[in-house]
Amino acid sequence: MKGIREVNFTGKKVLVRVDFNVPMDENKNVTDDTRIQEALPTIKKLLSDGASVILMAHFGRPKKGGFEAELSLQPVAEYLSKILGQNVVFTQSLDFTEIKALADGLKQGEIMMLENIRFYPEETKGDVQLAEKLAALGDCYVNDAFGAAHREHSSTATIARFFPQSKYFGLLMEHEIVNLKKLMTSPTKPFTAIIGGSKISSKIDVIKNLLPLVDNLIIGGGMSYTFAKANGKSIGKSICEDDKLQVALDLQEEAKKQGVNLYLPVDILAGDAFSNDCNIKYCPEVNIPDELEGMDAGEKTRELFGKVILESKTILWNGPVGVFEFENFAGGTNSIAKYIAEATDKGAFAAVGGGDSVSAIKKSGFADKISYISTGGGAMLEYLEGKVLPGIKAILD
Ligand code: ADP
Ligand code: MG
Repeated sequence: MKGIREVNFTGKKVLVRVDFNVPMDENKNVTDDTRIQEALPTIKKLLSDGASVILMAHFGRPKKGGFEAELSLQPVAEYLSKILGQNVVFTQSLDFTEIKALADGLKQGEIMMLENIRFYPEETKGDVQLAEKLAALGDCYVNDAFGAAHREHSSTATIARFFPQSKYFGLLMEHEIVNLKKLMTSPTKPFTAIIGGSKISSKIDVIKNLLPLVDNLIIGGGMSYTFAKANGKSIGKSICEDDKLQVALDLQEEAKKQGVNLYLPVDILAGDAFSNDCNIKYCPEVNIPDELEGMDAGEKTRELFGKVILESKTILWNGPVGVFEFENFAGGTNSIAKYIAEATDKGAFAAVGGGDSVSAIKKSGFADKISYISTGGGAMLEYLEGKVLPGIKAILD
């Protein structure tokens, strides 16, 4: 691991790629600063070493090419200034002569942030010339943007080649890699994966890659109805991918072949509309009347899943087992969170990842019991699919 812990960056100008793609309200207030908070250890380590820090980040998906006021990172720079307790030099300029002058003027312990890196349309193409201009601003490169590690962009991957002897993983990135490696190479058994969410199509490759590793596979949430229908059950109006029925059957068959215990919901809370205050009907079996749709796991399912979770030593959770955004259908997802917390109290290692799953675990109040919460939704899923992430590869090459 090429981490920054053992390196002293005194007097160096360090380019740091961070993931500051944070949610903001219409008044440009940061509404969830998790991503900024999680990059702080790296930033503080470098500043306290006496380095000058140059932050690169993206925000949203600029399409025009060039500056767009709506997508400026200025509010994020101001926010960072506040929580860091020191000025963050910021310019909206995209002109490298001007930017270089600012970077050159940075003293030890000072920090600047570049404007939204995706204002350069070349960024998302992994353009070499842009990477070279960025690289010219500093002496070293640190990638701490796990959330963007699955992208082969100029600032996340290409730039690393200009620092063959001085490219490093930031502390957040290191934490993600260490934990994901642990999960995928040396999990303590029994290993249980809980995969939920709305669509089986987005999780097929994850499930396939996990099958050789896990002892138990729990499938919940919207995607379980595709399995249910494939197994000949009535699912009413429940969400279902009709073109993936065979895929579901194949995955079931593959699980069986590999000796993996597969658990599917056995009872359902259904509703007569996709809303929090619809009429709720309990279905004691997965046999949902035509006019209803499955919204959450029933009590028997929660207990079944819970028993498996409590017997596990390694747990991976991605995907809510119900429409947790609606309070009336958050019970199943919250019970998973509670059982995982109980399992970690008994010494299990538990990992949670995925945008919605992380927001669900936070809502449940059990987040502090989780051994490892991934900050990268798409990046973590691609890692779990067994893909090589360009942002990781670029540092290791
Ligand atoms: P993650 O972001 O953690 O990877 P996904 O995006 O795959 O998770 O899935 C999350 C979404 O799945 C949530 O918006 C949730 O409402 C939805 N979902 C879960 N169960 C159901 C269901 N029974 N019907 C419809 N949507 C569901
Ligand atoms: Mg999601």
